[in-house]
Amino acid sequence: MLGVLKKDPIKRLISALGKEKVNTSIVERKLYSYDATPIPIERAIPSAVIFPESREDVIKLVEVCYEENIPIFPRGAGSGLTGGAVPTRENGVVVSFERMTSFEVDVDNATAKVQPGVVTYDFQQHVEKLGLFYPPDPSSFKYSTIGGNIAENAGGPRCLKYGVTREYVLGIEAVIKEGKTIKTGNPILKDVAGYDITKLFVGSEGTLGLLTEATLKLIPKPQARATALALFKSLEDVGKAVTRIMTSGIFPSALEFMDRDAIKAVEDYKPVGLPKDAEALLLIEVDGSKTAVKEQIEEVKGLLAQLGVEVKVAQSEEEAQKLWTARKNLGPALGNLKTGKINEDIVFPRTYLAEALPKLRKIAKKYDLLMVIFGHIGDGNLHVNFLYDKTDKEEEERAERAVDEVFELALSYHGSITGEHGVGLTKKKFLRWQFGDTGYELLKGIKLLFDPKNLFNPGKVIEL
Ligand SMILES: Cc1cc2nc3c(=O)[nH]c(=O)nc-3n(C[C@H](O)[C@H](O)[C@H](O)COP(=O)(O)OP(=O)(O)OC[C@H]3O[C@@H](n4cnc5c(N)ncnc54)[C@H](O)[C@@H]3O)c2cc1C
Repeated sequence: MLGVLKKDPIKRLISALGKEKVNTSIVERKLYSYDATPIPIERAIPSAVIFPESREDVIKLVEVCYEENIPIFPRGAGSGLTGGAVPTRENGVVVSFERMTSFEVDVDNATAKVQPGVVTYDFQQHVEKLGLFYPPDPSSFKYSTIGGNIAENAGGPRCLKYGVTREYVLGIEAVIKEGKTIKTGNPILKDVAGYDITKLFVGSEGTLGLLTEATLKLIPKPQARATALALFKSLEDVGKAVTRIMTSGIFPSALEFMDRDAIKAVEDYKPVGLPKDAEALLLIEVDGSKTAVKEQIEEVKGLLAQLGVEVKVAQSEEEAQKLWTARKNLGPALGNLKTGKINEDIVFPRTYLAEALPKLRKIAKKYDLLMVIFGHIGDGNLHVNFLYDKTDKEEEERAERAVDEVFELALSYHGSITGEHGVGLTKKKFLRWQFGDTGYELLKGIKLLFDPKNLFNPGKVIEL
């Protein structure tokens, strides 16, 4: 007797979704096998790239993938830095959310329902015109998506005062195992019913299911902002200044740090007039009502004067933007220094910064590496960059060994291996260090509850 011929799984996806939503061209498949991760990582060419346009499309595609055992690699804008959106199995499919870009704002409840493919900047621009504010501001906000930001629990400078993406996600709708839909939360601020599945999804890096919609919290847009630049002669003083500001009763909306090599790198890349002989600088931003902003920035100036630190307040929006551009140019500026870069985003409790910063420098010295540090020092989240020559394998290995020590240092101070970029592929081996064996086993159990076949972003975050 003739057996029933099984249909090619990709053909099944095409018949379920329509061929305009399933691209199998080799060019497209190769294009979608990358993200912004700057170091070499494991990567596979997917069998197809799928472009769902609705929740129904997502359900159909997960149903087929779950029946056919096809690994699913969700993707926003591909700006992730830890390989989160990169396919790692030859028979997998990439699911790009770039066609799911609608959103709806409820001004009276200060909430919004947002599809995952919406670009964060577009959404922010829209709500700000309505007098509302969506604070999460990863430096990639002009192109990264709400779905990618939620999956990574992204943050940026303003998260010091306003919190990371997690604080703004009131509910999610997601498609999990076998194409089942879960809906959590509502457009309400208080909701303590049951386990918090919403927050579990935030930062799950596409490993639990596919996010199809989120309910986001919005807050009133601050009236005014002021930015100041503080220049330092020693790294130890930076730690002291941060503690002084953060214990003064003033809550800056951003407190950003650049060390001397970071200053030099941006000045060599696109000069804005920062002094290259400073050991470090802080960019300090306060926001709120016009009068409060004026008073607070003067107070910060006074506090730092007591430590002998020079502070210049930007006199116009243009001047402030120039300073922020210098900070935001750091990524490309570092690319100019050496061909290879490992960029880690560790976190220290703030009070340990004065001790930890010089220790980081010692690690760079021990491994004879060029290291540049910058970041969101107000919340203890530092970007530690080791720069190396990609053609020099020995130097690359030294950089990898130095990174291990950086993580050990962060954990020894009760910090974290990642404050922004997530675990993805590149930090998997360190996650167990942070969670311990019992915690790690729980993570595995949670993953398998949502995805017993390990088809959602397999190989990311945890090893099963
Ligand atoms: C220059 C530069 C600066 C950056 N600055 C910051 C920064 O300041 N702060 C910060 O936090 N990050 C930063 N990043 C990292 C990156 O931009 C963020 O992680 C961002 O949230 C990724 O969004 P994305 O839309 O590009 O998602 P992608 O990179 O495409 O995907 C990220 C993760 O989300 C998953 N995913 C995407 N959509 C869905 C969905 N619908 N359902 C389930 N899972 C999904 C993917 O599988 C992947 O695991 C930066 C990156 C670059 C290149």
